[in-house]
Parts: sequence; structure tokens; C-alpha cells
Amino acid sequence: MEENIGRERLQDHLKVLQEAVRAFFQLETGLDETLKAGLKSILGDIDFDAVYIFLYEEASNSLECYQARMKGKGIIAGESRIPVKEAGGGPLVDVFLGKDASLVWDEGLQICLPLHTADDKLGVLMADKLASKKKITPEEKDMLGDYAREFSRGIRHVKVFHANLQKIGMLLALSKISEAMASSLELSHVLSVILKSAIEVLHFDRAKLYLIDKDKKILKGVASADIRKVTRPIEMEQYRIEKGVNTIVDSLFEEGVPAAQRTESMFLYVPLMVKNAKIGVLVVDNVFSQQPITKDDRESIDILANQAAITIEKARLYEEVKELSIRDSLTGLYVHNFLLTRLDEEVKRAARMKEKFSLTIIDIDGFKRYNDVYGHQAGDEIIVSLAGILNQHIRSFDVKGRPLDAIGRYGGDEFVLLLAGADASTALGVAKRLRDAVKAKEVKTDGKSLSFTVSMGIAVYPDDGTTQQQLFKKADEALYWAKQHGKDQVCLVKDIGKKDPREIF
Ligand code: GH3
Ligand code: MG
Repeated sequence: MEENIGRERLQDHLKVLQEAVRAFFQLETGLDETLKAGLKSILGDIDFDAVYIFLYEEASNSLECYQARMKGKGIIAGESRIPVKEAGGGPLVDVFLGKDASLVWDEGLQICLPLHTADDKLGVLMADKLASKKKITPEEKDMLGDYAREFSRGIRHVKVFHANLQKIGMLLALSKISEAMASSLELSHVLSVILKSAIEVLHFDRAKLYLIDKDKKILKGVASADIRKVTRPIEMEQYRIEKGVNTIVDSLFEEGVPAAQRTESMFLYVPLMVKNAKIGVLVVDNVFSQQPITKDDRESIDILANQAAITIEKARLYEEVKELSIRDSLTGLYVHNFLLTRLDEEVKRAARMKEKFSLTIIDIDGFKRYNDVYGHQAGDEIIVSLAGILNQHIRSFDVKGRPLDAIGRYGGDEFVLLLAGADASTALGVAKRLRDAVKAKEVKTDGKSLSFTVSMGIAVYPDDGTTQQQLFKKADEALYWAKQHGKDQVCLVKDIGKKDPREIF
């Protein structure tokens, strides 16, 4: 009979236990709710008067009462924290540390069991029969042991699940950031995404970005952002790259220091690395909120910094290539293709604003002879000096930084001049100044002093044509006329065939 009652009770206990376990695996209900249900079933199932769960908290190195439940009273506030120490910590700490496999005390009215997995100490489970004053039986101790084991597995699962959930969330956010970064290779765009993400996604108080200028051996401040969501330039921050200048520069000299050690109170200096070379530093801090920088923060910022470094490098290369492809290597002037693009823009702008503009083709007179007589090098120097004269006389941008006039090398000894807003007489005035400047120029090469002249053909939009092709064709015809009629002179399209252009100057 006794045995039967024992078996029935065991079967009931198993059933209740299975319920409790099932609840644990519905992870979305959260640890709170699951433990609440678990504690309730301990009181009903085993007939304890009160049951407590203490979980270990790493930050305070203590056991915190996570939940407590008393028969007839439900959940009770369990505000207690027991510091974990080797000696004199009390029965709960001793059980937690594994000094005792379990403990029953207070004349068999209180019991404590460890909550742990093979490699993780999680906390303790404590129960008592202080109200009913009935001694805890060995069978009840075993039953509580079953709960402790299941709780341990469940708590571990929930912990891992939530840690993973946070990691997945962060990885998703980081992958969104790298998408945003790569959406434009414009350096300013890339930099602003990096700084904003450090604040808005990784939740640092402030982020500052510095890039290395290899030629000048300085670390240059680029921009800073903070929780007020203001991004401002910090170009005035420029430091020589030498040990001892300041902590930011010094961080560049730390070799292979793992992220976890790079923290200094609430500051973190994250190097921007591309193929083992440092290209800058990202400095983040939590000085406003006084929050410590956690291990997770460091991991996330390291991922962000890696991605940032690669994207910054790409954007820099892209800008260099873009610049190279639109500029002539000898003169630094725009190449023909780019000038055509500028010309197209100007056609559209002039049409919209109902304005004029002029296109001038400039060609060195008898250039071939300089090459033949003085050598190719001397020829190059003449071309470079003409480019210099053009640059001196032309305003590339207006006061507001908008592109205005443009000079391009059309090929060989031919140059093109686009003068925004210029009608025929303005373009003639500029051409005259240029012609005079060229005549006055002496090119010193190989101990000799060379002088040269140029001829020019000028077409005006919309009088001589409304597309860049028409304008080029017409300006070329005017140039041809000037060459045919004595060189060293300027011809407007409207003057072709009318008179000797020389009469103009
Ligand atoms: P014209 O007055 O009729 O323009 O006579 P020209 O001698 O200037 O004749 P043309 O324009 O046909 O000659 C251009 C020469 O410029 C031919 C080519 O060898 C030379 N040339 C083209 N590009 C370069 C360059 O980058 N450097 C040097 N040194 N010579 C170049
Ligand atoms: Mg020529």
C-alpha cells in the first residue's frame, strides 16, 4: 500500500516536471514566466512551504534572489543579494561553489541544491518547510533535485538563446550598416554612416574618426558624432605620428593588441586596418552616460571598424581613380571626355537659364617644329606652360564653389576652354588676354629660352550651335580659318570668311 502511494506520487511528480520542462523550451515566454510556473509546481508537487531561486550575477559576484514563492502568498519580493566568497559565505554560497553537493539544515526544515550544468555554475535552488515544520524527506530531496536539474538545463538554454538573439540582432544591424556604407562610394557618405552607426546602432555616447595622411605623417581628425546626433568636422585636430603625442596617436603603435585590452576606462581606440596596415583610428567613448564599455560592445565595434576600414579604402581609391581618369597626366587639366560631360551640363544649364556661353579651341602654332628642333621634352614643357597660363586666367569655380569655367586638353597641342555665361565679346576679351600672356611667356629649357604663339577659334551658344557637337565643329572651323590666315590670332565663328580676323586684334 505504502509502496503504491509512493509510485503514484512519483508518477504525478514526473508529469508535473514534464510540464515545467516543456515551459522552458517555449523560450519566448522568457525566463521570468517559466520559473514562475516552475516554482508554483514545486510548492504543489512536493509540498514545500517556500521556494527560492538565486542566480549568479557576474558583475556583482553575488547570488541574487531571482524569484521566490510562498505557499498561499504567490510570488514574494525577494530582494536579497549574497556575496560569493570562499569562506563564510553561508550555506547557499557553499553549495553554489560546489563545496557541498547539497545541504539540509535547520533540523531538516531547509534545503539548498545547486543549479549548474557541466561547465557553468548558474545559482542555487532553496526550499523550506518552516511554516508547516515538517521535516524534508529523502524522497522530497530527490524530487527537488529533479527540478534543480531541469531548471539548470532550462536556464542555460534561455541564457544561450537570449545571448544569440542579441548577437543575431547586432549582426543584422551591422550588415545593414555595411549595405548603407557601400550604397555610395562617396567618402563623405561612408564616413557619416560609420559615425552615425556607432551612436545610433551600437549606442556609444560619442565617436570620432581619424585618418592617417601617409605623406605628411600626420593623423588627421575627420569628423565627430555624439548622442545629440550632431556630426561635426574635426579637421583642426592634427597630430604628428610619433609616440607620446597623445593617447590616440599612441594607440597606433600598439601592435596586435586584442580588442578586449584596448579599453581605457570608458574610451576605446579601435584601429582601422586594411591588409595589416593601419589607415586610421575610430575612438568611441561613453563619457556622458558613464557606462562601462562591455565585451559585446567591443566585439561589435571591431566588426564595424573592419568593414569601415575596407569601405574607406575603397572610397579613397575610387576618388583617386576618378580624379586620374578625368585629368591629363602631363598638364593636370581635364581630359577630352570629361570636358564633353561638362559641356553637356553647360548646354542644359544655359538652355534653362536662357544664357550664353562660349567654347574656344586653342592650338599651338607650328608646335611640331619645337619637337623636331628642341626635342620632345621641350615640347612637353611648352604644353605645360600653356596649361599654366590657362589655369591662371580662368576661374574654375564661382564664389559659392559652383563649377564655372573649365579648361581641358583636347589632345596633342590643342586645348579647349569653356567660359560659362560668356558672349562673343567677353570670349574675345579673354582670348586676347591669353594670346598676350602666351606671347610674353618664355619657356626655359635646356639652357634655351623659347617663345611660342597660339591660334584660337571661338563658338558661342546658342548663336553658333545648340549641341556640343555643333559647337565643337564650328569652333574648329574658326580655328582653321585663323590658322589659314596667318596664325597667332583669334577668330569668332561669325567672322569666318568675312574679313581677315587679324583686324580684330
Ligand atoms: P599648326 O600650327 O598647324 O597647329 O602646326 P603644328 O606643328 O602645331 O601641327 P600639329 O597640330 O599637327 O602638330 C601637333 C604635334 O604635337 C604632333 C605631335 O607629335 C605633337 N604632340 C602631340 N602630343 C604631344 C605631347 O604630349 N608632347 C609633345 N612634346 N608633343 C606632342
Ligand atoms: Mg598645332
